[in-house]
Amino acid sequence: MIQSKQTMAATKVLIVEDETPIREMIAFHLARAGFETLEAADCRRARELLADERPDLALVDWMLPDMSGLELTRMLRRDQENENLAIIMLTARADEHDKVTGLDSGADDYLTKPFSPRELVARIQAVLRRSGTGGETVLKSGTLELDPAGHRVLAGGAEVRLGPTEYRLLHFLMAHPERVYSRTLLLDRVWGANVYIEERTVDVHVRRLRKALERSGADRYIQTVRGAGYRFSPRNADA
Ligand code: CA
Repeated sequence: MIQSKQTMAATKVLIVEDETPIREMIAFHLARAGFETLEAADCRRARELLADERPDLALVDWMLPDMSGLELTRMLRRDQENENLAIIMLTARADEHDKVTGLDSGADDYLTKPFSPRELVARIQAVLRRSGTGGETVLKSGTLELDPAGHRVLAGGAEVRLGPTEYRLLHFLMAHPERVYSRTLLLDRVWGANVYIEERTVDVHVRRLRKALERSGADRYIQTVRGAGYRFSPRNADA
């Protein structure tokens, strides 16, 4: 296991972008916002830096010379080493953006060019908060509250008892609301990329989790999206 980040160290962001002016512009603004930056112009260099420098977050451009950003993201997600790495994908056009969203690449967020430095910094901070890199933030959603430090879940103020897998599943879903995750991706992110279990396993644990949340009504937050997977959405819980 990797040691948790020392609190004094700046958050390290790896910028994977082959267009030098864009990469340097991003690096400049991130440095100004207090981040430590690393730069890679291709996937090969990105992987070296990931191994040597262990960044907290990677900004990955869609179009790269040696491999697409999408392939790189998928590759990183398959590797347990990068379990705690947050990834934001940069896309040049809205249709790429749609593809990324639909393809379960494993990115935590997507940003379409051109974006303002302020928007970029805000997205990075939001992703880091969600991925828990920023500490053990209590997650609140609708009537649910999950406290990672106390390993405790409250629904409408009452404690809910969950098995370890249900807990991890809920933690992941609450950290990534309003997004559809396929069973395959949930297996990767909740069970780990190197574990070989059937996709049906996900359904079993979702069922258990819903059952545990039933009394509070929060079971409706976990929605089945036919042919796609599951979504955590307290907002449209009645839809
Ligand atoms: Ca590019």
